[in-house]
Amino acid sequence: MSAMNACELEIDLQCLGLRIDPSCTLEEDARSFSRTRAGLGSGLELTIPGQRKEIWVNVPVVEEFAKSSPWVLRKAAGSYRVRHELTDEEHLVHVPREPRWYRSKTGAGTLMSRVGVLQGTYLGIYIEETCAFWKSDPGLQCHFCTSGVNVGKEEEARKTVDDVVETALAAKAESGVTFVHFNSGFQGERDIDGVIPFVTALKERVGVLVGVQMTPSRHLEKYDRLKELGVDHLSFCYEFQNPEFFAEYLPGKQKVFGQQAFFDAMDYTAKLWGPGRVSGEIIAGIEPLEDTFAAIDRIVSVGAFPTVCIFRPLPGSKMAGYPPPRPEEMRQVFRKVALACRDAGLPVGIAPNIEVSLVVQPDDALELLPGGLKTTVYLAKLKAMKAAAKPMFKSLLKPRARS
Ligand code: SF4
Repeated sequence: MSAMNACELEIDLQCLGLRIDPSCTLEEDARSFSRTRAGLGSGLELTIPGQRKEIWVNVPVVEEFAKSSPWVLRKAAGSYRVRHELTDEEHLVHVPREPRWYRSKTGAGTLMSRVGVLQGTYLGIYIEETCAFWKSDPGLQCHFCTSGVNVGKEEEARKTVDDVVETALAAKAESGVTFVHFNSGFQGERDIDGVIPFVTALKERVGVLVGVQMTPSRHLEKYDRLKELGVDHLSFCYEFQNPEFFAEYLPGKQKVFGQQAFFDAMDYTAKLWGPGRVSGEIIAGIEPLEDTFAAIDRIVSVGAFPTVCIFRPLPGSKMAGYPPPRPEEMRQVFRKVALACRDAGLPVGIAPNIEVSLVVQPDDALELLPGGLKTTVYLAKLKAMKAAAKPMFKSLLKPRARS
């Protein structure tokens, strides 16, 4: 059996988790496990040397299933390796250090790591209050989510614009961050308006690419305003293609929005922003594989790209006792992602330094493409697009004049 490539290893680690050998000195070497936002980033951040780039992965280590993982992390002679104890397969990995700015405070005295955290190479910030689905009685929260037990405890309950700007400035200066991702749960009538002051401030005072992930607005014209403000990326988490799974596992989204509202917002914005700028987010490993494949086709058909999370049974969520998906099935999913992006000619991995550790990104999955002319031409096209887009990104990464 040939050794796994970096993307296959990324999938294996996300599905099976990792045990940590006593030889590891992660308190000194690694980023602390941060259970913020929906909770997916609560594992160990690693990077795996790949064919085209270093692949970032957040590996489950605290979940129950990780305790019986065949993968073990060891440290020897200053280097870290993961080893599969049943097959003896071994890979070199790197353990990124915790950034110094995590310990810094903003002018208002807020610890910056309670404002935002790195999830790979980008800065993730949950804005707004705890998702209203968590506050309703009975709870209407999505069954996989833990944001209701994180926001206000592991992170600040409410972030101010100044705290966010200062944290983003530190992350840009010290960690080379180019992308800040804002998300929030359901905020009732406030809709997507709450993000506007944050986007405006980051564009004017920091100079970074900005992504927004919120529940869909029925007032589609509001997305025109976000486009004018310079939002670079939008994502819509509809999670499941199969309507029965959507209704069962996302009771709040089903009651307030319905699946169609996600499609309407995704389709509208994918057209407005153009190919490869909007994503549809789904979870793989719960609904049948053919539904996940249909979701990938649905998303790519409108020019959006699929962001696929491998299901992680998070402690504190309603699905904590569910089994994680099988790596063989997840390989099929990500091969499908890569093929769908290639066949649609979607620009993936073009923006500088956006590595997301929580998911297998479409450009991580390019390692799963079969060889041949189609793949060679697509990879050459991506390289040319990346080079051509450099001046545009250079200009977007400068603070822009105050409006
Ligand atoms: S909308 Fe669902 S996933 Fe998002 S924060 Fe609320 S409960 Fe969690």
